[in-house]
Amino acid sequence: MAKILAIHAHPDDVEFLAGGTMALLAGLGHDLTIATFTPGDCGSKQLDAEEIAAVRRQEAANAAARIGARYLCLEMRDLAIFDDDGSRRQVTEVLRQAAPDLVLTSSPVDYHCDHEAASALVRDACFAAPAPNYATRIEWAAAPLDRIPHLYFMDPVEGKDPEGRVVAPDFVVDIAATFAEKRAMLAEHASQRIWLQQHHGTDNYLDEMERWTRARGALVGVEYAEGFRQYRGHAYPQSGLLQDWLGASAIQLAPRG
Ligand SMILES: [Zn+2]
Repeated sequence: MAKILAIHAHPDDVEFLAGGTMALLAGLGHDLTIATFTPGDCGSKQLDAEEIAAVRRQEAANAAARIGARYLCLEMRDLAIFDDDGSRRQVTEVLRQAAPDLVLTSSPVDYHCDHEAASALVRDACFAAPAPNYATRIEWAAAPLDRIPHLYFMDPVEGKDPEGRVVAPDFVVDIAATFAEKRAMLAEHASQRIWLQQHHGTDNYLDEMERWTRARGALVGVEYAEGFRQYRGHAYPQSGLLQDWLGASAIQLAPRG
């Protein structure tokens, strides 16, 4: 059994972009944590920040519980995730506490500033977490990790960078077997139905997710899929650990490095 951390900016991002893959990994018996940088405190035009944050923490915990994952929130705030010294130390501490073998995080290019900042923080915290001299300055600090975890990026929203250029995945995961679970996980985020209608012009976020997941499946001729890229920076693990776990469900598009 391995430890897997899926960490993204806001509640519902992991479910939207990697919920089916997380459900597959749950089925393989792995130990799963879903973390978000913020509790989604700006995701409402009706409730104030603390009211919507309380709703969304519970929605995220309910979604995670569906696949036996724990949920944790780093309690940063929407539109205020910054790639700075204190934030990097905080994310490093989260990594040391969770001690994951493998991390899934947001795309380094994406429409939302929080997604991009979260991605950079997680990438660099993966590198920092095994360095014993890098102190997180927290009283109950966990021990440094033994090694840098395997790191993967989820797709950016709509598979595009901020200027609309296509961001192609290295491989997609066939999630036909867990699509219903993914939809049920995302449906736990019921507060976002109204928000996404009012602010994003999305008629139904569950149908939007289904269209997107079908589009990723269409890349390889399966019904539903999710795309990923493996981060292969110097010193980071290069082997395709996630692809190996998922076996035939992981369908390669770009050559494995
Ligand atoms: Zn988000």
